[in-house]
Amino acid sequence: MSFDSLGLAEPILRAVHEQGYTVPTPIQAQAIPAVLSGGDLLAGAQTGTGKTAGFTLPMLQRLASTPAVRDARGKLPIRALVLTPTRELAAQVEESVRNYGKYLKLTSMVMFGGVGMQPQIDKLRRGVDIVVATPGRLLDHAQQKTLDLSHVEIFVLDEADRMLDMGFVHDIKKVLALVPQKKQSLLFSATFSDEIKNLADRLLNKPALIEV
Ligand code: AMP
Repeated sequence: MSFDSLGLAEPILRAVHEQGYTVPTPIQAQAIPAVLSGGDLLAGAQTGTGKTAGFTLPMLQRLASTPAVRDARGKLPIRALVLTPTRELAAQVEESVRNYGKYLKLTSMVMFGGVGMQPQIDKLRRGVDIVVATPGRLLDHAQQKTLDLSHVEIFVLDEADRMLDMGFVHDIKKVLALVPQKKQSLLFSATFSDEIKNLADRLLNKPALIEV
């Protein structure tokens, strides 16, 4: 199995090869075609399995293959939202987005608390395709109306079990009320408690199931 047979476009494959990856990990081999097909995904995967590329690569491809549509005020909307439990993970995921998307014309930003709001507001104003965020700061921006999630096409919950362990369930529900009903949703979790299953039922529509 090589990356070339998964349906990824050349600019993405070039970035993957530059990372030195030759063989997709099991989660990548399953998740990439599933996400490219446009459907929802429920994936059981620990960190270290290559799950980040598993959702980032096909997400980038789906965004790159359809043009952004300006909103009513002529602004380019946020098209993808990735929620993570921690700042560190948000920063790592956004770095992956930038690495794998280096040959694409997509922009991304990481958004977490503990740093000033204004630089984040300035970036949002200039237009960002992909936001990788922790829930608290994301909701701060939403409350201040400096963030519009009403055009999100792809929504990813990464390490959902850790998010629930950290008490983010209400924040996640608030975020879900801000994104469109019609979207592609991906949920990654290392474990599957009843609480995760409830969240998956609420979020996902006939998801593909992957466990590695
Ligand atoms: P993750 O589980 O997404 O945190 O990834 C774990 C580590 O595996 C990261 O350091 C990645 O750079 C690396 N990695 C991801 N996919 C591959 C691959 N197909 N081949 C080799 N290394 C990979």
